[in-house]
Amino acid sequence: MLCLTLTGETLEENALIAAACPAEIYELRTDLLKKPDADQIIQFSRQMNRPMILTCRRERDGGAYRRTDRTRASFLKKLLQEGAFSYADLEEDFKRSELEQIAAERGIEIIRSFHDLEKVPVDLFARIERISQRGEIPKAAVTACGIRDVVTLFNAEAQLRHIPKKIVLAMGPWGVPTRILYRRTGSFLTFASAPNAASAAPGHLDYSVMKDLYRCESVNSDTKIYGIIGNPVLHSASPRIHNPAYRTLGLNAVYVPFQVDDVRTFFMLADSLGIQGFSVTIPHKQEVLPYLGRITREVKQIGSCNTVVWERDTWKGINTDYYGFLRPIFDDLEQDRIKHALVIGAGGAARSAVWALRNHQCSVTVLNRTVEKAQQLALQTGSTWGSLDEADRTAAPDLIVQTTNVGMEPDTDADPLPAYQFRGQEILYELIYAPETTPIIERARRAGCRIVTGKQMLFSQGILQFETFTGLSYPFSEAAAVF
Ligand code: NAP
Repeated sequence: MLCLTLTGETLEENALIAAACPAEIYELRTDLLKKPDADQIIQFSRQMNRPMILTCRRERDGGAYRRTDRTRASFLKKLLQEGAFSYADLEEDFKRSELEQIAAERGIEIIRSFHDLEKVPVDLFARIERISQRGEIPKAAVTACGIRDVVTLFNAEAQLRHIPKKIVLAMGPWGVPTRILYRRTGSFLTFASAPNAASAAPGHLDYSVMKDLYRCESVNSDTKIYGIIGNPVLHSASPRIHNPAYRTLGLNAVYVPFQVDDVRTFFMLADSLGIQGFSVTIPHKQEVLPYLGRITREVKQIGSCNTVVWERDTWKGINTDYYGFLRPIFDDLEQDRIKHALVIGAGGAARSAVWALRNHQCSVTVLNRTVEKAQQLALQTGSTWGSLDEADRTAAPDLIVQTTNVGMEPDTDADPLPAYQFRGQEILYELIYAPETTPIIERARRAGCRIVTGKQMLFSQGILQFETFTGLSYPFSEAAAVF
């Protein structure tokens, strides 16, 4: 079940949130209400006509309740007595036999929760066991500090299988996969916040993102899991390329962002979750190489891999940046309309671009702020090189490929080649995709140049990843919806 946590400051606000997000179950965070009135809360809960979890979270557990435990107990007692809730969330160290008795008499199930805002406690599983032995539903909301902690949480499914009703989730950016793949931790529900509402806990995702993008409620033991690894990774647009296409094609598959600090541990997680394939972004494009059983020629040439797929009993690495880069200019290369290119930058993206151009018989000049790096790439690829201020001194290019970070947030007014005069005949290929228009694009457009955008490349490489993962053609009806 996907539970929507109601985080409004008033019950009226919560009613609007619930109407906009019709969930199967709601959690009412009474600690966030500005004026918590027991009678009004009871009336609200009855009107909701859905299972409701009553929560009044203390400040030390990440909530907003500041008064004494005694006052809180009498507030909760009033609310429980009327039997308007299906569940009551009470903390592990907040034992009140009176409340437990009222809950038992009214048929209210107790969710016995514990929170760790700093780490995953070493006795995580033992505490869950102890709570379950009391006949209560254990809820562990702990803080993952790396991918190793995420592995621990997913182990809960196998190790605590005998406890069918439990909630085990990790807060913070590392914990996001445990929220989306909650059934793979053995949890019976997961939580989400309403769009634009205050987030109930670190790492809470938007309700529509959980429901419509990740379809978290449909994930089961047959679901094929794909994803993206990086650090950071939550900003990635890739889930919006892959997930809607699975839905359109009726595939039981999900594509999840995994923040990863240790590639080796992620490969262990990939084995245990049965992950079928994943995209790789900064800083892991080189780090994955030692774990691959097979690589393509491009991965070998470029020395980096952005796509890993489980194929014929091994992990195979490919580089869809290479092909994604080529796709928008492929016809121009094939028909010899691009013979000479200027590549600005000498980082990872530039390597893919230069190799792709050189493998298609295009001569290349690499210009970079750090000239030694331009020289290194040029020597490996049989290109020429120079510094950024030499753009006007090279042979007139048919194509300029902009691969530096100049023009990206927060540097959106900057232009990597301010002195270069566009002739209007060259194609400008800007790899930056956010923002969509950079100062150099504006200048080139004014001069009459054809523009290829970073978004076109991003989408092209995403489509190739989709096809590599699933063996199916990308449903192009999705393209418009994604971008
Ligand atoms: P990278 O390996 O870190 O390389 C960054 C490059 O930018 C280096 O050549 C660096 O020069 C240069 N640079 C950075 N700051 C600069 C500055 N202030 N002035 C001049 N040059 C500067 O990064 P990357 O992986 O190649 O990515 C580069 C860009 O390509 C990013 O915007 C990324 O989002 C984009 N990209 C887009 C796609 C797509 O699908 N559209 C795919 C991959 C990458 P130095 O060597 O002197 O440091």
